[in-house]
Amino acid sequence: MNLGHIQSLSEEVINKIAAGEVVERPSSVVKELLENALDANATWIEIQIEEGGKKRIRITDNGNGMGEEDLNLCYLRHTTSKLRSAEDLFHLKTNGFRGEAIASIAAISQMTITSRTENDSEARWIRLSGGNLQESGTNNSRKGTAFLVEDLFFNTPVRRNFLGSDALEGSRVLDTVTRIAIANPQVRIDYKVNGRDIFTGVEGSDLRNRIAEALGAGIARKMVPVDHTEAGIHVTGFVAPADETRGKRNHMFFYLQQRPIWNPVAGKAVVRAYEPYGKQGYPVTVLFLDMPDMDFDVNVHPTKKEVRFVNENGVFLAIHHAVRNALQNEGEYGAPVIHLSDAVPNFAPVGTSNDASSATAYAATGYSFSNDTVQEPRRRFEAPPEPIAQDLFSLPEFGKVIPLTSKTFQTPTKVESFASPQFFHLAKTYLVCEDAEGLLLIDQGAAHQRILYERALKIIENGSGIETQELLFPELIELSKVEASLLQSVLENMDQLGFHLEPFGGGSFQLRGIPRELPLSRAIDAVHELVESLLEEGFDANPAHDIIAKAWAKGNAYQAGDSLSSEEMAQLMAQLIATQDPMTSPYGRPTLMRMPIEDINKRFKR
Ligand code: ADP
Ligand code: MG
Repeated sequence: MNLGHIQSLSEEVINKIAAGEVVERPSSVVKELLENALDANATWIEIQIEEGGKKRIRITDNGNGMGEEDLNLCYLRHTTSKLRSAEDLFHLKTNGFRGEAIASIAAISQMTITSRTENDSEARWIRLSGGNLQESGTNNSRKGTAFLVEDLFFNTPVRRNFLGSDALEGSRVLDTVTRIAIANPQVRIDYKVNGRDIFTGVEGSDLRNRIAEALGAGIARKMVPVDHTEAGIHVTGFVAPADETRGKRNHMFFYLQQRPIWNPVAGKAVVRAYEPYGKQGYPVTVLFLDMPDMDFDVNVHPTKKEVRFVNENGVFLAIHHAVRNALQNEGEYGAPVIHLSDAVPNFAPVGTSNDASSATAYAATGYSFSNDTVQEPRRRFEAPPEPIAQDLFSLPEFGKVIPLTSKTFQTPTKVESFASPQFFHLAKTYLVCEDAEGLLLIDQGAAHQRILYERALKIIENGSGIETQELLFPELIELSKVEASLLQSVLENMDQLGFHLEPFGGGSFQLRGIPRELPLSRAIDAVHELVESLLEEGFDANPAHDIIAKAWAKGNAYQAGDSLSSEEMAQLMAQLIATQDPMTSPYGRPTLMRMPIEDINKRFKR
């Protein structure tokens, strides 16, 4: 052994480490390649994925393309045509500025790049495996660039195991595509999953039409325009009308200088603007913020999603007022008015659009809504699934409903004789099937959490110490004083689990290394969840590795509303039965309930 001998890491290893940060999952690949295509002035981009992007991602654009020299450089680290000076780091003129995305993606995949510029007589292609050049050639593809990324994480199998299901990863890709598509309505963006069209854009669209393409014409038509400047902050875009707040949190889109961002203050400012209407939830929001560069700070982190505002309060107020004014204006100009009951924070329509008396009567309250509001009941926008269990068991003849109580349904002590059953997917939340003793209902989220939790525990426990992936860019974790002291008390355990944390003054810590198996965002969540659990339960109740495994399971499990194929349902059930404790989720929720056949017989008076 050659101890004590300092060796520099090979390019390959460095690329793999960097890949861990830039490429967390298929959606990160799509994000980077989409941004590159936009930087190359593409007016049309096609994204295709297969198996949630794990098997294949293809992104084709009609942009400037790369000449021979650029093509042979682009997959090497720190080759970028974009970064001119350190000064540029503080401006966001182009999407990329680090010149490491392609190198990072190439390091953990099989990549084929085909490109042609206007001046080329033919297109050139190169094929890489794990970042190493395998083959090259020419063909007659059109001007532009195509990236084909296959077998993501093929050489880092543990990372691959930690990816979610195809459905979950696919939904993350969709989220990324949607976010970027909305910010670039002028560019035609087509998105295909397993060969099926999911999203087809139109070139030269405007924002409202693009929202229609991305989120549905129903909601796009109703959305209210926003345009407001305050304290040097310009806020534009569209928000849902005040009676449509049933969006999902991931239907709040914020952009800073046209780039997707997430900032909790912005989200809160919008939600608050709807509160006077007695509405809770996450209204569909598409808001663009513009402010001078020195008024915000973009964390110089590979994925660049975190933004801090110098004047958070100012941003909060600007957004809050922008949305509030938009909702009020909509009321002034759109007619029919809706009665705002004092007692019930719900709206009941009174009169029709030409009911002038009610319009004046309620105008004084300041709450009024556009024509759309009182028209026929509208399709809910991605409403959470309705509980339909009662329908399933209702006996219309007698007008009786057998409620789904714990008496009717029991949590079985064990499930036996489970021979490849037929599954029915109920409300995209529950699996329904039979076993030898009766009818089974399985909560897909709780069940999946159990499976993932045990898998994570196994990985953690097998390690005689968990391998750490050092971060090139340490993450700052800010905590309150109490939280910080709790975390301080378990630093050693965290270290064993692969988390390298260092106090960084005040209540903050620098996260310098994370378990190799965890994606970065999950690792950060795990630290926060750990601290929360320590606050609530104390350290003894739940050892750190348990909390970390839970955090991971929670973040990656199916949720209510996720569509599952019959294959996925069968797999979920088979994996659940194979766990140590199939009846409860790691958070103590039931995963399974059974209505015994005798009970059903009794109900039917047999
Ligand atoms: P960055 O975007 O930070 O420059 P990347 O690794 O993402 O780094 O890309 C490296 C370089 O490859 C880019 O600077 C650009 O010159 C070239 N490139 C990447 N994708 C495309 C594309 N779709 N069309 C044209 N050039 C591209
Ligand atoms: Mg880039």
